[in-house]
Amino acid sequence: MKRFKLKLNINLSDKTLSRVRTFCGFAVLSCNIASINMLSRVYVPQRREVDNYNVYSENELVLDADERKNTIINLENELHVQIPDSNDNYFLLDAILKNKYLNAEEKEIFYKYIDYFNDNKYLDKEKVYRTLLNVDSQECIRFLGLVSSRILACYIPSYNDIIYYETPTDLTIAHEQGHCIGCCDAYWLTEGMNQLIVNEYMASDHFGKSTSYLFETNFVKLMCELVGADKVLEAYTKNDLNIIYKSLARICYDEETAKHVIDIMNNFFKKLSACSVSHHEITYQDFLDDEEIIEFYWARVCLDGYVKTTKPTDENALDFLYNEFTCNVVEFKTIDKVLEKAYISSKLKKQGFNIGIIEDVMTYNDKEYSLIKK
Ligand SMILES: [Zn+2]
Repeated sequence: MKRFKLKLNINLSDKTLSRVRTFCGFAVLSCNIASINMLSRVYVPQRREVDNYNVYSENELVLDADERKNTIINLENELHVQIPDSNDNYFLLDAILKNKYLNAEEKEIFYKYIDYFNDNKYLDKEKVYRTLLNVDSQECIRFLGLVSSRILACYIPSYNDIIYYETPTDLTIAHEQGHCIGCCDAYWLTEGMNQLIVNEYMASDHFGKSTSYLFETNFVKLMCELVGADKVLEAYTKNDLNIIYKSLARICYDEETAKHVIDIMNNFFKKLSACSVSHHEITYQDFLDDEEIIEFYWARVCLDGYVKTTKPTDENALDFLYNEFTCNVVEFKTIDKVLEKAYISSKLKKQGFNIGIIEDVMTYNDKEYSLIKK
């Protein structure tokens, strides 16, 4: 059987390596360091008593007029914001304010999610309130090498705990907080969408030139172009991939095929994220077996079919993302360009988009990739 062998450049520069590490383990973010006490212990999951106080029942506010008024006064005093009377999403911040476990820096970062709360109509507010009220965070040491040194932090949904293995930057905190607000089963969607949200709402680098999970966010953006960002956001928020399968099936083939294609891609991204780059060379054979390689190529052909049969509202963006996906992600070349286009943030969406070059990469052609559309 013919084996595919695609090589990554043997002589990776430090810059390239740091970029590869970035998607593997959420590293290399530069921002202010939040002050959390030094590492001291191994994480031991412990059930905490859950505070069931809630201001929502499903998505309805259940406070009476006085409680509502007092909560608003309290939030306005603590957060120094003016809360619009007609906006019920601000009451989610009340859960963060009342949280007994987070420190002031962490809360400050959490409050910045308000624009995302306002933009996402699919949130289950009762559930998000309960999670925010009870989430804990701890700094822990890695246990006997079971936790890879590339993993800086993680969120454990079943215990509602955020764990930091290193003193976290603001963006690491924002990333884990994002998992706490929304978490789904599919690896590519949970990491790609979470990072897309962090980039658009929390980072100064809105289009992810220097943040983590470039491959995963690009794949999420590709799905957004194929089925619409609103459908992808709905699938992510409700943890229901059938929404994406159904929409993909409308473009081409059937639901079963769409599900299979996405499953294969999920497996690919998961394995890619876990593989070591220390040997300076990655081939498919390092992490996919023969059968998986065949399946992977089959999925690529299907995706190609989806792309070709889509009547894109935004042809340039779809072309760019698909080329990025096939050339850069699949063939393990370093990503040196990003699509400066917003998918979720209503504020950013008003800005239009262009295809931007990641700075200090030597291989770009100004004329070719400069402003395509404004
Ligand atoms: Zn993550």
